[in-house]
Amino acid sequence: MSKLIYATDKGLYCEAGDFYIDPWRPVERALVTHAHSDHARWGSNKYLCAEPGAKVLRHRIGQDAQIEAIPYGQKLTLNDTTISFHPAGHILGSSQIRVERNGEVWAVSGDYKLDPDPTCAPYEPVRCHTFITESTFGLPIYAWQSNDELFTDINAWWEKNKRDGKTSLLLAYALGKAQRLLKGVDTSIGPIYTHGTVESLNQVYLSSGVTLPETARLSSMPRGTKFAGALVLAPPSAYGTPWQRQLNPVSAAFASGWMRVRGIRRRRSLDKGFPVSDHCDWQSLLKAIHLTGAENILVTHGYSQILVRYLQDQGLNAGTLSTQYEGEEETSTAEETSSDAVSKSAEETTFADGRDSADEIESAADKVEVQE
Ligand SMILES: [Zn+2]
Ligand SMILES: [Zn+2]
Repeated sequence: MSKLIYATDKGLYCEAGDFYIDPWRPVERALVTHAHSDHARWGSNKYLCAEPGAKVLRHRIGQDAQIEAIPYGQKLTLNDTTISFHPAGHILGSSQIRVERNGEVWAVSGDYKLDPDPTCAPYEPVRCHTFITESTFGLPIYAWQSNDELFTDINAWWEKNKRDGKTSLLLAYALGKAQRLLKGVDTSIGPIYTHGTVESLNQVYLSSGVTLPETARLSSMPRGTKFAGALVLAPPSAYGTPWQRQLNPVSAAFASGWMRVRGIRRRRSLDKGFPVSDHCDWQSLLKAIHLTGAENILVTHGYSQILVRYLQDQGLNAGTLSTQYEGEEETSTAEETSSDAVSKSAEETTFADGRDSADEIESAADKVEVQE
């Protein structure tokens, strides 16, 4: 009997159900975990997703796309399989996909996080025999702070800029991260403006039933409006563009998991970096994997070799699964280069017998950090 789900040149395929999960080429039927561009691609004939994510998916792949949506947890028969979507806690509508055939259960994580996020349903463990997981931040150096600590830092930065007569420009991925940040900041500090890309996604969130603080599109403000003391949310691609000039004097900060690596922040010459991610950190990945009860773990994108090695050391049956998913989106070339360097260096680390592989990885990653 063939494997229930395997990688093909078009994407992860389930032959028994005749469908693909997050395919990277157009297919007949695509089950989509979430609307980020490396998972939801244009051109497939039919799409199936979880209900809360339907409007975001439509916004991303077009008004004409044939999209069917079912509630979280509802079972659907597709040929010889039964499938269902379960919350992944990553962005609005994000799902893990559970696939069952004759009592054998597989789950595909998509992107996920365990940390609370008021803009989407919380992650729910799915018991399975085989778990296909991402590992975007699958290195021990990645450990996120709590939401409380994060927003205390962001609010303090905003308040200080306000006192200094500056605009606070917070750069964050426009789908998911921007809304999560918006919902967490202290709105009593000042007004909040948005870049058009962020605003249009805010509108999709609002129309999907997520409440968000009031914002105004920056470009809709009259000429000569002063933005000192305000918070402006924009995608990272807006950084350093002529658009940014109207915000001067400005303090710019980037909110991304990559900010955990100090060298990246320095190279981007940003005033501030907030390490926050909608992906699991190392400990959350291990916890989530444990909660599935799975004996087989297949790792897709991110530091997959590191995680696989670690899981094998723990006695699990782990391997990699080659995909075209890209990890935390909208990373600049500088970030990609740097994270590749960490990955490469860590992968080249040889694990001496009897030594803790996690420590080895950490020291390898630290070495890279120091070199930068
Ligand atoms: Zn994603
Ligand atoms: Zn991804």
